[in-house]
Amino acid sequence: MKKVLKFGGTSVGSIERIQHVANIIKKERDAGNQIIAIVSAMSGKTNELIDLSNQISKKFDKRELDVLLSSGEQVTCALLTGALIDQNLNAKSWLNWQIPILTSGEHTNSRIINMNISKINEHLSRGGIAIVPGFQGISEKGEITTIGRGGSDATAVAFAKAFNADSCEIYTDVDGVFSSDPNKIPVAKKIDQISYDEMLELSSLGAKVMQPSAVQTAMMYNIPLEVKSTFTDRKGTKIFDQENIDYRKSVTGVAYSKDDAKITLIGVEDKPGVAANIFEPMNKAQINIDMVIQNISSDQKTTDVTFTIKRNDFLKAKEILENNKNISYKSLTHNDKVAKVSIVGAGMVSTPGVTYRMFKALADEKINILAISTSEIKLSVIIDEENTLNAIKKLHTIFELD
Ligand code: ASP
Ligand code: MG
Repeated sequence: MKKVLKFGGTSVGSIERIQHVANIIKKERDAGNQIIAIVSAMSGKTNELIDLSNQISKKFDKRELDVLLSSGEQVTCALLTGALIDQNLNAKSWLNWQIPILTSGEHTNSRIINMNISKINEHLSRGGIAIVPGFQGISEKGEITTIGRGGSDATAVAFAKAFNADSCEIYTDVDGVFSSDPNKIPVAKKIDQISYDEMLELSSLGAKVMQPSAVQTAMMYNIPLEVKSTFTDRKGTKIFDQENIDYRKSVTGVAYSKDDAKITLIGVEDKPGVAANIFEPMNKAQINIDMVIQNISSDQKTTDVTFTIKRNDFLKAKEILENNKNISYKSLTHNDKVAKVSIVGAGMVSTPGVTYRMFKALADEKINILAISTSEIKLSVIIDEENTLNAIKKLHTIFELD
C-alpha cells in the first residue's frame, strides 16, 4: 500500500519523539508499505519563530515571514530522516522547492495547487521513504510560501490526492475524534468512524483535531482519512464517505462553543434590505456572524432579529448597531455570556424525534433555550453559558454516547 503519514507538532516535539516516529515509519515500511511522511515543526517552534519576527518588527515582511516559518518543518524533516538513515533505511528528505510543491495565493495564506510526483515516486519504487515538510510550498514565481496555521494537514491531504495514496493517516497526540470534549466529559468516547460532514461540523464547533479545510478537501476528492495517536497502538478514528457508514446511533457527537454573545434587535422594519443594512457594517468591521434568527412578523410591519457572535466582538457590534444611521429598531437586548451546544449526527436524517428529545432533555435540566438553529445533520441551541457543562453531559447521556 502507498501511505501518507502525517505527524503533528507534538508527535515530533522532542528527539525521543522523533526517534519514536522513526520506529513507526520503520514498522510500516517493514510491513511492505510505501511511505511518504509529512511533518510539522516541533511543537511550539512556529510560535517561537513568529515571536522572533515580532521582536524585529510588528509589521514583519510577509515574504520573509514565510522564509522564516518554513524553516521549522525543515528542521523536523532533516532530524527524522537522519533517524531513519541511522536505522539503515533508505530515507530522504525533500524540501518544498525540491519537489516542488506549487502554491498560489498570498504569502502566509497560500494553498497547494499542484506538485511534481515523479522524483518521489521513483524514490518510493526503489524502496525509499520520502520525508516532506508540511505547511509550505513555492509559488509560480519561485517564492517560498506557507499555507496557514495548522496547514500540515492540508499538505497531507494534497499528497494523498496527488500520489493517489491508499491511506492518509494523521498522527497526533489524542486517540482520535471524540463524542465530546474528553477534558470536560470524562465519559466521552472515541468515535470509530465518522463522515466528512460530521467531522466538519464537529471541528468547526471545537473538536480541533484536524484542520477543517483539510477535511473539506478530503471530502471533495473522497480521500479516506484516519486520525490516530502517535503514542498508543489504539485504533484511531476513520473519516470517510457517509454512504459507507452504518449509523446505529442518531447522534455522533455533542459539541459546544463558548465565548459567544447574543444580540436581539426588537422592532426592526420588515422590508427588503433591512437585514443587509444590519450585517453590512458588521462585515466591514470583520465581525463573524454565527447564527441568525428572524421572527415571523406578526403585524406584517416589524420583526425581531437575533444573532450570535464571538464575545470579543460584542462591544464592537453593539457600538455599530447603536451608531449606524442605516440601522433602525425599537430596542436592543443582549446576553454576552451564552454558549452554543450542538448535537451532530448523520443518523439524525433518518431518525424521527431527535429534536424533541434534545429539547425535552434540556427542559428536564431546567435549561432555557435562547435560540435554535438546525441543519440536516446538526441541531444547535444557544443557552446561558453557566449551563454548558450540564447540557453537554445530559445530551451525551440521552443520546447514548457515554
Ligand atoms: N507548524 C505549523 C503550525 O504550527 C503547521 C502545522 O503544524 O500544521 O501552524
Ligand atoms: Mg496541527
